[in-house]
Amino acid sequence: MTNAQKILSGDLRALARAATSIENRSHRAEPLLKELFPYTGKASVIGITGSPGVGKSTLVDRLVHELRREDKQVGVIAVDPTSPYTGGAILGDRIRMLAHHADPGVFIRSMATRGWLGGLAAATTDMTVLLDAAGKEVVLIETVGVGQDEVEIAKLADATVVVLVPGMGDDVQAIKAGIMEIADVFVINKADQPGADQLEREIKAIQSLSTRKDGWVPPVIRTTATDGQGITEALAAVRSFLARGAAKDRTVANWNMRLREMLRERLLEHFSDLDFQAAAEKVAARQEDPYSIIDGWLKQYKD
Ligand code: GDP
Repeated sequence: MTNAQKILSGDLRALARAATSIENRSHRAEPLLKELFPYTGKASVIGITGSPGVGKSTLVDRLVHELRREDKQVGVIAVDPTSPYTGGAILGDRIRMLAHHADPGVFIRSMATRGWLGGLAAATTDMTVLLDAAGKEVVLIETVGVGQDEVEIAKLADATVVVLVPGMGDDVQAIKAGIMEIADVFVINKADQPGADQLEREIKAIQSLSTRKDGWVPPVIRTTATDGQGITEALAAVRSFLARGAAKDRTVANWNMRLREMLRERLLEHFSDLDFQAAAEKVAARQEDPYSIIDGWLKQYKD
């Protein structure tokens, strides 16, 4: 059996090995992904994003439990930009691994960015392709919605859930510009804390200022992830979004962005920081112009 056949037939070790080579951005994964791609397109990909501490991990765990109760095969990709410095992803991973340890129906991977955000969208795409082919019916992508890259990744889903918590005050104003418009569903987590009414009013006020092209009005769901309240409703809201008509447009738009990210990664991997540094020094000293440098690079890697 080839590796692809093993993964398609549910071999968990083959799946784990492939996930590792994707994480390492090894080209060994590419022939495999080519072979697997025709078997994909079945998974619902759900992005979950929000500031650190809003309860994303707790929420994702609850969603996994809920989906497993329905006997759905689940994949989780946790994109953690903090991990190279704090070990956060590794720790989170261990805790989750313990929680779902004995369950072959759940596959969880944290992807550390190792201080390099460039190929993250491409890596997440590859991981999603792998999990989809491996028969995961729902793939949850958890990202911290702080930087632009993470927001981009959360957007690359069939449905994006933005998690907020009461008592954020001015944060809503700050967040408004970045992640408000990517929400297909709003979750107000920690609804057991005071301020949920006010936050809901603020979200609705922002929503009333503009209408989406697809006409969808993102529902606002309250959850208390720690005791599981509202999880069923949150999942139902995501599903009603997925069941609407415009899904194909979204899929095309997502692939449009993914292809750009994949191309960017492929181009950039030909260069080292030193290449950029050396070129930057020449440009800064007006020894060469940046346009000719780019022309030269493009010619070099044309084939
Ligand atoms: P993340 O950083 O967004 O992944 O947040 P975590 O899931 O790690 O949660 C951060 C903290 O908030 C933890 O101590 C959780 O137990 C707690 N937490 C999560 N959900 C709730 C909730 O609904 N209510 C309350 N009171 N605490 C919560």
